[in-house]
Amino acid sequence: MHFLARAALAAAFALPLTGIASAAPEPPFNFDTTYGNLPKDVVPRAYVISVTPDPDHLALTGSETVKIEVRKPTKTIIFNALNMTFSRASVDGVAATVVPNDKTQRATLTAGKLLTPGMHVLALSYTGKMDTAGQGLFRQPYIGADGKQHVMVSTQFESTDARRMFPCWDEPAFRAVYTLSATLPAAWTAVSNMPVASRVVKGPTATTTFQPTAKMASYLVVLTAGDLKSISGVDANGTRHEIWTTNGNEQDGQYALANSKQILEAYDAYFGIKFPLPKLSSIAVPGGFSGAMENWGGITYNDQALLLGKSGTLGQKQEIYSVQAHEMAHQWFGDLVTMSWWDDLWLNESFASWMSARQTALANPTWLWWQTEDGDKEGAMQADSQITSHAIQTHVTDELQAEAAFDPAITYSKGQAFLRMTEAYLGPDTFRSGIQLYMQDRKFSNATATDLWTALSKASGKDVAAYANGWIAQPGFPVISVTASCDASGNRTVALHQERFLLSGAADPNATTWTVPVGIASGNGAPSYTVLNARDASGIPAGSCSEPLRANAGDIGFYRVAYDPATLATNTKAFASLPDDDKIVMLDDQWALTLAGKADLRSYLALANAMGSDHNTRAWNQILGALNTIERDERSKPGHDAFTAYASALVHPLYDSLGWDPNPNDAPPVRQLRHAVIGSLGEWGDPGVIAEARKRFAAFIKDRSTLPPDEQSVVIDTVATYADQATFDQIHALAKSAKNETEGQRYFFALAMAKDPKLAEQAMEIGISSEIPPQAASSRPGFVFGTIDWNPALAFEFGKAHGKKIFEAMDGMNMVFIALYAPPAFADAAPLDQVQAWVTTLVPPGSDAFIQRGMASAKLAQQLRARIVQQADAAMQAAKT
Ligand SMILES: [Zn+2]
Repeated sequence: MHFLARAALAAAFALPLTGIASAAPEPPFNFDTTYGNLPKDVVPRAYVISVTPDPDHLALTGSETVKIEVRKPTKTIIFNALNMTFSRASVDGVAATVVPNDKTQRATLTAGKLLTPGMHVLALSYTGKMDTAGQGLFRQPYIGADGKQHVMVSTQFESTDARRMFPCWDEPAFRAVYTLSATLPAAWTAVSNMPVASRVVKGPTATTTFQPTAKMASYLVVLTAGDLKSISGVDANGTRHEIWTTNGNEQDGQYALANSKQILEAYDAYFGIKFPLPKLSSIAVPGGFSGAMENWGGITYNDQALLLGKSGTLGQKQEIYSVQAHEMAHQWFGDLVTMSWWDDLWLNESFASWMSARQTALANPTWLWWQTEDGDKEGAMQADSQITSHAIQTHVTDELQAEAAFDPAITYSKGQAFLRMTEAYLGPDTFRSGIQLYMQDRKFSNATATDLWTALSKASGKDVAAYANGWIAQPGFPVISVTASCDASGNRTVALHQERFLLSGAADPNATTWTVPVGIASGNGAPSYTVLNARDASGIPAGSCSEPLRANAGDIGFYRVAYDPATLATNTKAFASLPDDDKIVMLDDQWALTLAGKADLRSYLALANAMGSDHNTRAWNQILGALNTIERDERSKPGHDAFTAYASALVHPLYDSLGWDPNPNDAPPVRQLRHAVIGSLGEWGDPGVIAEARKRFAAFIKDRSTLPPDEQSVVIDTVATYADQATFDQIHALAKSAKNETEGQRYFFALAMAKDPKLAEQAMEIGISSEIPPQAASSRPGFVFGTIDWNPALAFEFGKAHGKKIFEAMDGMNMVFIALYAPPAFADAAPLDQVQAWVTTLVPPGSDAFIQRGMASAKLAQQLRARIVQQADAAMQAAKT
C-alpha cells in the first residue's frame, strides 16, 4: 500500500512518531503458531462469494459458501465480519446460528451438529453496509470527463476491511482461493483480481463472475465497477497489462501502461519467478483513498497517482513511476509471499519501497533517483531520532495497531534504507540470490523475517540475522564519531565510537548498539567496509591525512557521522571536490548534529558556502530546506532580517546562474532545482523574484501558452503568497476553470499560500466548499495545512471550527496519523493543551497512545526551534564581526 497524503504529511511536518513495543525475535513461519486473533482449528480453503452492491442506499447483500477444513471436532466457527446481519447460515446443509459482534469485528457460528475433522461447506447469506470513505466496499461519486456527476464502486481492504464486504478469516496467514461474482448495473464494467469467467445480463443488471484467484490473503481481494474503459498490451513474457479508468480518461493511461510492461518484465527477471497471474490490471479510481493498493492482479490507484494528462509535470511522472514500481513489487513481496502477521508488515512495505527506488533509479538514470530518495531517508532519520520512535518490526495485537504500522517514516523509508545498506553490505548479486531463494521457498505462502535471514545467510555465508536483528528490532540508529590519527608519514587510521543519535541531545538511556557496515574512503577513492559490531573500534586504515575522509561513502549507511574537528576542516576545504552523494550526506549529518546541539551552525554553513558552482539538486535542496527552516523559525524574532539577508546572499549565485527559463540541456533534476531556489527566494521576500513572478503571471493570464505545466507552480505559488484580493481572484478563476483535477489542485493549493490572513481564510473556505469535486475530497486537509506556514493561529482556529468537514474523506483508521502529525504541525499555532484537546476530538477511540506520541513530537519541535534561533543569531553575530 502506498499513501500519498500520509507520506506528504510526514515529509512536511517531519517530526512525528512513535513508541510501539519492539517484537521479540521470531521463529520461521508456522501457520499454527503464527500470531492472530482467530482460532486455527477451522481453516478456509476456498470461497465462492456473490455480492450485490446498492450504492444508492450504501448497502450490500451477499451470499457465500466456504470450503472449510475442520482440524479438530468443534461446533463453533469464529470468523471476521463487520456491520453485517445474517439471514441464513448452514454447515453441510444443516442450519446454524451466527452471532456477530461489531466490537470485536468477529462473528461466532454455532453449527447444528458437531463437526468432525475434514472438509465441510459453510454457507452464509447476509446484508451489510457500503462506506463513503476508502475502506471496505465504498461508493465513489465523481465528476466524469463529460462534466457530469457519476457514481462508481471500489474496494480498499488492507489492512482489516475485507470483513466489511464478505465474512472471512481476515488475517494474512489464512490464504484461500476466492471466486467472486458481482451483480451491478448492466451498463457498468467490473474489474477484479482475475479475468472475467462469465457475464450474464438480466434486465437492467449484469452478474460478472471472475476466475478463481490463486491462494492468497483476504486483504488482497479487489472489486471496482462503474462506467470504465481500458487500454491494454502484452509484455515480452506474455502477461497482459490493462489500465482501467473512468470513461473518457483512458488515453491518460498510456504512460502508466508503458511503465507497467517495463517494470513487470524487470521484476520477472529479478525475482526469477515470473508474475504468476494471466493479467495485471491497474485501476484508476477518482478519489477513494489517497494512494494505491497492491491487490494481486488488480492494483487500485487514486487516479492522480496513475494518469498523466497533457498538463502533467515531471514531478507527476516520477510519482506515477515510483508508485507503480512500489505496487508491482508487492505482487511478489506481499502477494506471492505474505507476511505471517502485521508484526512483519515491513517485509511487505520496506521491500516494496526499496525495490521501487531501485527500479526507478535503474530505468530513469537522468532522475538521479537515489539522491532524491535521500530526502525520504532524512525524514526517516528525523522521526527515528526521537526517544519515542519504534522499531521497524513492531508487535501488533489489534486493528488500530495494524493500521498504525503503516508508518511512512519507519516501515517504509527506514526499511528501504536498511535494505539498501544490506544489499551493499552483502553485494548486489549475493543479495539477489538470497531474495530468489526466499521467494522459491515461501511462494504462495507466508514468511517471517527469520525466513528471510535464513535465505540471505545461505546465499552469503554470513550470519545475516546477527547483523539485521539490531536494525529491525530496535528503534533508532547510531551516530558514529570518527577520530583520525596521523603517523609521521601522513598515513591515517581512524577510531570509531557509536551511540544512539537523539535530536533532543540527551544520552541514550538504553545504551543501544548496532552492527554497522561502515564504508570508509579517503579522497575520491573506493570505500572499504569495516563492520563495527561493538561500541568502539580503532586502528582502521583510512588513507592519507592530507585527503578528505568519507565515513559513509556513497550515502548508503543508515547512520550519522560526527568527524573530529581537524578532519571536518579538511573535508570542508575539499568539499567542492567530493562526489555528490558524499556532499549530500555530509550536509545532512552536519545539519542534524546542529539541530541536536552537537555541532555549531557555522560548521554547517561553512559546508553550504563551499558548494561553489555545483548544481547538484539534492545537495541544494538540503541547504534550501535548512535555510527555510531557520527563516520560518526566525519570523517575528529580532534576528529574522539579518538571517534572511545572509541566506539570500548564500543562494543568489545559484539563482543567477540558473535563471528563470528552462535550458533544454538541463538534466531533469536541475529543472526542479531552479524552481526550488526561486521558490525559496520568493518566500524570503526577494523583491526581484517577486517582480519577475508577477510579470510572468500577467503574461500567463493573457496567454496560457506562455507557461508550460512544469513552469506554472513556481510562478503562481510566489504570486499567490503576496497576492492582493484581485490577484487571488484571478488564481481562483484559474482553479475553477481547470480542465482536470491535476491542474485544479495546482491552482487551488496555491490559494492556501496567501500571506494575507483575509485571503488565507478565503482559501480554507474554498477548501471545504463544493468547488472541490467529490473525487478530490482527500485534498481538503491540504488547504488548512498549507495555511500553517504564514497563518498558523488562523489555520488552527479554522481546523477547530470545521474539523469534521476537512477530514471527511479520511476513514477512521487514517485519522491515527492525524494524532501523530497534527501536533508538531500546530506546535506554534496554539497552546499545546488546546492542540491536544482538538486532536482528541478528531481521532478514533483508543488513540490515546498515538496522541501522546504526537504531543511529544510537538514539544521536541518547540525545543528545536528555540535552539536553532539561538544558533542562527550567534552565527549572524559572528559573521558580522
Ligand atoms: Zn506498499
